[in-house]
Amino acid sequence: MNLKISTKTLELKHTWTISRGSSTSKTYNFIELEAEGVTGLGEAAHNVRYDESLESIHDFLENTRPVLASANPMEYFELGLEIAKLGEGQQAAKAAIDIALMDWNAKKLGVPLYRVLGLRAGKTPLTSYSIGIDTLEVMQQKIIEARDYPLLKIKLGGENDEAIMQAVREVTNKTIRVDANEGWRDRNEALEKITWLAQMGVEFVEQPMPANRLEDIAWLRQRSPLPLVADEDVKTAKDIPALAQAYDGINIKIMKSGGLQEAWRMILLARSLGLKIMLGCMVESALGITAAAHLSPLVDWADLDGNLLIKNDPYQGSYVSEGKIILPNATGIGVQPTF
Ligand code: MG
Repeated sequence: MNLKISTKTLELKHTWTISRGSSTSKTYNFIELEAEGVTGLGEAAHNVRYDESLESIHDFLENTRPVLASANPMEYFELGLEIAKLGEGQQAAKAAIDIALMDWNAKKLGVPLYRVLGLRAGKTPLTSYSIGIDTLEVMQQKIIEARDYPLLKIKLGGENDEAIMQAVREVTNKTIRVDANEGWRDRNEALEKITWLAQMGVEFVEQPMPANRLEDIAWLRQRSPLPLVADEDVKTAKDIPALAQAYDGINIKIMKSGGLQEAWRMILLARSLGLKIMLGCMVESALGITAAAHLSPLVDWADLDGNLLIKNDPYQGSYVSEGKIILPNATGIGVQPTF
């Protein structure tokens, strides 16, 4: 297989702020894997939260060349294991390779990826639409602009949570999901916030406290009126058994898991442990989002809106109609370049 690596800059419609920081654009590595005249596409939406950078992802991708050069892309499962052995972390790089391999295989078979996975395209869930932290007026404006999305995800975890939620409720009565992004440091503070949010029409709360505080989360869960969903606390399948004692659900993202294959394993494991499953994303182009969307018929909650925040998306693929994810009917992942 021939590997081509390039970078693309995704310009955001609004400055994106969560409890950790702000950005106005994202520059990521994108790949093409070519063999036998078929090209699989991949994206690495890296995240500094997980010690990934444009350079570290590029270096990891370069290191996959010897494995890929002589590989048979149909052996995607074996190849995934070999790529994983090249090093810890850098999950976004592993995800790019995995997405491209799955795209390649489904294209080679001449069917959409969900067909290879044996899934039913009509079972895709509704996706939430995320509102980043901003001035109250801008957040209200974003909510009004999001009129086509029946579910909203509000980023909290700062000093201003009560004022934000009150401003949100002034302009919408939609179901709200809250993501604290590790923002509440103290479990009593977290419980107070969650108890208050339960009266504000909130469905569940994502990552209320910093990662690796499972005793606090278990304490919180015994008292919380709302389900608690792990995000920063879960990356791959090996994290899941310990979380089942503390959380009600997990947020799986292919950029954290290292791709679709590991996300699939995580879904099966989480189900067997009775956990609810959310499928989330980073800020990603339609390439990464559509790849993940092929798994969405398997999950309870989707938050696959990362490409909706971009104004110059280099790809088009899945789209959202009245909140529901619609998978493309083309072969492979089914994305087309727009450049
Ligand atoms: Mg989150």
